[in-house]
Amino acid sequence: MKKMTLDRVLQTQGFGTRKWCRELLESGEVAVAGELVDDYRAEFATDGLIFSVYGESWLYRERVYLVVNKPAGYECSRKPSHHPGVLSLLPEQYGRRDVQPVGRLDHDTTGMLLMSDDGAFIHAQSSPKSHIPKLYVATTHDRIEPELIARLLQGVKLHDEPAPLSALKCSAVGEYQLEIVLEQGKYHQVKRMLAAAGNHCAALSRVAIGRLSLDELQLAEGGWAHLTVEQLAKLV
Ligand code: URA
Repeated sequence: MKKMTLDRVLQTQGFGTRKWCRELLESGEVAVAGELVDDYRAEFATDGLIFSVYGESWLYRERVYLVVNKPAGYECSRKPSHHPGVLSLLPEQYGRRDVQPVGRLDHDTTGMLLMSDDGAFIHAQSSPKSHIPKLYVATTHDRIEPELIARLLQGVKLHDEPAPLSALKCSAVGEYQLEIVLEQGKYHQVKRMLAAAGNHCAALSRVAIGRLSLDELQLAEGGWAHLTVEQLAKLV
């Protein structure tokens, strides 16, 4: 079983530099199992370790796997340029431990966004080879005609793509709303495919990744949660 000194635990969990974490401990702000610990050399088994900082409890996690219900107006970048970044929706220690968005949603796209500090997980989720289906609900500018759905299913040519891109599934769910499932994650893909098929996207939301739907997560807009093992298994 892996053991770690408490200053190192706090540092790995994003509470600050080693020096700062020692100061935090020495100032009596950290407790383990309800007991104040102010000796930074105290060692603990990290498996299942629950500690509190300023009275707030945390579970030690070697890696974090998060899901955010992204509101409009946030950039999927660690260094946002025009809007607040999605990291600002999370507790600040996650920014310090290198959590990043898994793939990108446009600043005006809402819905399901994964975030993690596990490079292998990020790569597996975002690799074009993974073919993970993603379900979007798009509101269109013009009324949806059957030809639009047919074109999106057959494939549309985007100027910088060598081959036409097609939707895995696509159906109208209202006069101005459609559900579209894509396996790739190209830049502005839904918006560009809709434009290439002769309509325009007025609003876009991602509502499922793999077999995991935003609905079952019951997250308020702007809310986030740690993914459970069962939920992670559905991301395929
Ligand atoms: N397709 C888009 O056009 N935008 C997104 O944010 C996601 C998919």
